[in-house]
Amino acid sequence: MDLIVATPRGLYCPPGDFHIDPWRPVARAVITHGHSDHARWGSDAYLCQNDGAPILRRRLGDVSIRTLAYGERIDINGVTVSLHPAGHVLGSAQVRVEYGGEVWVASGDYKTEDDGVVAPFEPQRCHVFITESTFGLPIYRWRRQGEIMAEVNGWWLANAGAGRASVVFAYGLGKAQRLLAHLDPANGPIVCHGAIEPMNAIYRGQGVPLPATKRVSDFSGRDAFAQALILAPPSAANSAWVRRFGEYSDAFASGWMQIRGNRRRRGVDQGFALSDHADWPGLIDAIHATGAERVYATHGATGALTRYLREGGLDARMLHTEYGEEEAEGGAEEEAVS
Ligand SMILES: [Zn+2]
Ligand SMILES: [Zn+2]
Repeated sequence: MDLIVATPRGLYCPPGDFHIDPWRPVARAVITHGHSDHARWGSDAYLCQNDGAPILRRRLGDVSIRTLAYGERIDINGVTVSLHPAGHVLGSAQVRVEYGGEVWVASGDYKTEDDGVVAPFEPQRCHVFITESTFGLPIYRWRRQGEIMAEVNGWWLANAGAGRASVVFAYGLGKAQRLLAHLDPANGPIVCHGAIEPMNAIYRGQGVPLPATKRVSDFSGRDAFAQALILAPPSAANSAWVRRFGEYSDAFASGWMQIRGNRRRRGVDQGFALSDHADWPGLIDAIHATGAERVYATHGATGALTRYLREGGLDARMLHTEYGEEEAEGGAEEEAVS
């Protein structure tokens, strides 16, 4: 029996009668994380991990939310359901479903490198694994976070030395807080756009230590920003909003920056290939660690990933979903904080 199937409303567990990250309103929605393509409005009841609840509330308003700790098991119509760390953003979870001796896991979005900010990814043994594949091509191989953050801090220091502000565009939920946690506050003040600060407050409220941040309104005069690093959502790029910083250098932090043309297309001075998704080796390792014999791939380069897995002897198939590629066009995560 298939424990999770694709339906027009979203991934569905027939024996449990619940959906996972549905894209249409349903009676009972189990949510992997708060990005807007995974946590959509209109369902009657939501289930998510404890730390994800304040994010859902901010996005969806006063909705009915039940929460679980990581690893805590509940019974839904005879199906055992539990949530396990996905390492993607605060409260992000893989959904483990067990029924009649079968175990299926739906990953949601995940990254395999421990970012030191959110609970690190924990592979779950299962018979069938539904994996994301946003960066499911062999060209995607991330450098270690420590190396990339040393580059970001060095770039900031060089700009400050030249009397230029440093503006970094990053998605407001997850990426911005990960950057923030690893910026060196000794370099100068850190300023956050109004769309990012509410998510910082949620992270802090859930016990994630982040350095002090300022708002643009705390400063007066253009020169005031010369030593500052300013974090802003991608929608602020090339807008009137950034011109207030006087002379500045800008950068975009995203896995897509690994492709040189994407930096030019964004029109920024610098790209930092920092992603909250697994790279190609991360996907392959994560899939093998589950021991699953059948794998379904959702969003991204599902064709390349499933072909590779089939050549390795796995039963790998593509699964159609309506999840966006939040890192691709930048819409989803900005909505998440509006
Ligand atoms: Zn996501
Ligand atoms: Zn996604």
